[in-house]
Amino acid sequence: MDASLSPKRTIMTPGPVEVDHRVLRAMSAPILGQFDPAFTDMMNQTMDQLRKLFQTTNEWAFPINGTSRSGIEAVLASLIEPGDRVLVPVYGRFGHLLVEICERYRADVWKIECEWGTVFNEEEVIAQMHAIQPKMIACVHGETSTGCMQPLAQIGKACREQDCLFVVDAVATIGGTDVFVDEWCIDAAIGGTQKCLSIPAGMAPITYNKRVEAILGRRKKVERGIATADDQNTPTQGAPIASNYFDLAMLQDYWSPRRLNHHTEATSMLYALHEGLTLLLEEGLPHRFARHAYHEKALIAGLTAMGLELFVTHEHKLPMVTCVCVPEGLDADHVRAFMLRHFGVEIASSFGPLHGKIWRIGTMGSSCRKENILFVLAALEAALIYNGAKVEAGKGVQAALVYYEQKKNACSTF
Ligand SMILES: *Cc1c(COP(=O)(O)O)cnc(C)c1O
Repeated sequence: MDASLSPKRTIMTPGPVEVDHRVLRAMSAPILGQFDPAFTDMMNQTMDQLRKLFQTTNEWAFPINGTSRSGIEAVLASLIEPGDRVLVPVYGRFGHLLVEICERYRADVWKIECEWGTVFNEEEVIAQMHAIQPKMIACVHGETSTGCMQPLAQIGKACREQDCLFVVDAVATIGGTDVFVDEWCIDAAIGGTQKCLSIPAGMAPITYNKRVEAILGRRKKVERGIATADDQNTPTQGAPIASNYFDLAMLQDYWSPRRLNHHTEATSMLYALHEGLTLLLEEGLPHRFARHAYHEKALIAGLTAMGLELFVTHEHKLPMVTCVCVPEGLDADHVRAFMLRHFGVEIASSFGPLHGKIWRIGTMGSSCRKENILFVLAALEAALIYNGAKVEAGKGVQAALVYYEQKKNACSTF
């Protein structure tokens, strides 16, 4: 298929989601050289925008070229030295990803698990930290696989008191709800572009503080032919970082005013990130977060009015992902394919033990708007009825409409 003929879709998954036209247009702008001041200015502006996004005063906030998982790998690869003890609270699929990456960099991983669909009591994680004495806790903020959001503030505070590093995967939540990097004592946080930022997959914004920077400085390996004499005289005391592409010490030098060449920054993706963050800051973080919560409530009103059961009903539901239990006797993937084929609407299934048991409906970024909510409800209801499920016919869209009509004065800008 010619990419320019890609079919029109309504994407209601937990990523990738719909992208604003301004971002798509930015991506078609002419290429600039990586040391052209017009481009390095844009790099600096992007760092500033990312500090605002992460609500941090950290000096270092920049994107890794690659999907979100590249940001996770860059942080973990650069912090973990073989044998380091790492505690990972796992409450869904992406917690297992953290475990997997930590193991590859030869950490001594201690995993604690809770049932999928629930989150940890923070006290429990803190007690484990005291018992295990890890160098780092690595934790997911928003588990897209289960639709849950882990509270982090107390864990972060306890980590700081024990001088334990706190690394957070905020890929799903960044740009959709508050992620208070400084206030929650997060030492390194990773975001993603293809979720609530509504930018195509291919960049992973990260931020980290001085505590992390100190470790990078200690582990710095100097690439010959690039570094100055000064760098070559810097003594290294730690194990060199085991990855070249994901070496944050080198990446930091590239993003610093010295612009020591590492990779070639992905030009068009940086345009996309810059434009997407400009849109986000024009909207304003509070408005954006309120918009996400607002449409999520409309979706929930519609789903429950239809008689469907939600997988997560407790207070730690992830605001940008709503998991719906698949009614008894239905083929979950068949219904999804039916919706895509007839309506061009995409929703997601889940992983591992939840595959076939729940659907996941995303309300992220540009996809998170009224027409999309009404359309996904209509398409789901029609697909369910056609495929023989018992639902309250006609109730879903009506309930969402009632919600929108009731709120229209209070929330006129959504
Ligand atoms: C989507 C997601 C990832 C992986 O993102 P990619 O962009 O596919 O690499 C990691 N963690 C969480 C919590 C996610 O939701």
